Amino acid sequence: MGVLSHLEPKEVFHYFEEICQIPHPSYKEEKISDYCMKFAKDHGLTAYQDEQKNVIMIKEATKGYEDKETVVLQGHLDMVCQKTPDYEIDFLNDPLELEIDGDYVQAKGTTLGGDDGIAVAYGLALLASNTIPHPRLEVILTTGEEVGLIGATGIDVSMCKGRRMINLDSEDEGVFLAGCAGGASVAVSLPVQRAEMEGQLCEITVTGLIGGHSGTEINKGRANSNVLLGITLDHLAQQCGISLVSFAGGDKDNAIPRETKAEILIQPDEKQAFYAALEEYNQTIKAAFGQSDPGIKVIVEEKAEGTYKAVTQEGFASILQYFKEMPNGVQAMSKDIEDLVETSLNMGTALLKDEEMCMGYAVRSSVDTEKEKLIAKMREILQKWNGTMKVSGQYPGWQYNPDSKLREDMIEVFERLYGRKPVVEAIHAGVECGLFAEKMEGLDCVSIGPDMDDIHTTEERMSISSVKRVWEFLLEVLKK
Ligand SMILES: [Zn+2]
Repeated sequence: MGVLSHLEPKEVFHYFEEICQIPHPSYKEEKISDYCMKFAKDHGLTAYQDEQKNVIMIKEATKGYEDKETVVLQGHLDMVCQKTPDYEIDFLNDPLELEIDGDYVQAKGTTLGGDDGIAVAYGLALLASNTIPHPRLEVILTTGEEVGLIGATGIDVSMCKGRRMINLDSEDEGVFLAGCAGGASVAVSLPVQRAEMEGQLCEITVTGLIGGHSGTEINKGRANSNVLLGITLDHLAQQCGISLVSFAGGDKDNAIPRETKAEILIQPDEKQAFYAALEEYNQTIKAAFGQSDPGIKVIVEEKAEGTYKAVTQEGFASILQYFKEMPNGVQAMSKDIEDLVETSLNMGTALLKDEEMCMGYAVRSSVDTEKEKLIAKMREILQKWNGTMKVSGQYPGWQYNPDSKLREDMIEVFERLYGRKPVVEAIHAGVECGLFAEKMEGLDCVSIGPDMDDIHTTEERMSISSVKRVWEFLLEVLKK
């Protein structure tokens, strides 16, 4: 008897519990992938497995549904594995310990992997059924979603006929996701030269910021410590003579940096002017970001007087000018969806090396041409100082389709079942649907899922009643 055996819908929770017995962290999906292939064989289904362990399973339409359009169901096989410090588990070999708490399923001491095990469970339950009416079903289960959409990037879907795709990787029942941003990593380099200079070394730190995800939280008005320190140095340089020795902040391009440090040289006779300018600028910063980042502050620590290899005044002037000219943050809002950011960039990392200033950006847009335009603009700005850039990790956006027939059908079913309208949303971050939209021309796609809380954490839990409602909803949509 399993822990979930008594829950409804029985077939969905049966497969969900099976999945939780099979370890399936990102990069280690072969066991669950093989399990799906065996399932397909046992059920006489056509199935494909590629080198990356992505799985595609196909089941023909049931009687009376042969003429209906194929439906693609899509989710990912891998899960984020997190555990509490005192819980013992080997994520490569041990099953999860499932528990029920009221309306929720959770795993003792670990993430549950409802994200996205529930998609696999829904898919298998549908494929196993002899009684559920449906059109031709194509179930696509990818690997490495949580670590950069790896499986979806490499997968060959040429055997799939469907252009109506329901992605099952959302976690808010009643919210239909209908678009996402594409993105790229842009690494920028500004050449600088250094010369020996004398002065009082001071470490200046912008700290106490909240930071956040460079996509979903870019519109919260929060300060970026890299950019803020650059602008602060520019202000100080206008009031007194300073030179730059080091500059470092942030550790990944897709997070808004929370702390940045620079070492500067000031002349002892300019100390007073320096502190006066800093004090004044601190007030300006507090006024600008006191709401979004209440803990924000700039602190200075005096270090030894001496001779240091600092950036030449010409190089320093280029860096300061760069900080003023290069945009950062939200660049455009969506014309179709209220409050959705369309295009943005985030200077996530900044590091002054011996002969170059290096900066890493996450660039995003739900409109691929706007992303290209922004990258071109960055290149143009850089050229002023003979800077260079490298663009990598490009993934396409999934542009909101104002005339989605699938979404219309799903909205109609939702209203009929629940007597209210679903919320239609798009997000300013990457999801797999963007990659499939690029691979499958004319793809009509909506992403849904049952209620889950705190995914990717040990507090992850999934609502039992919501799993049931989403299942019933899905069956109704398949009947259309
Ligand atoms: Zn997911």
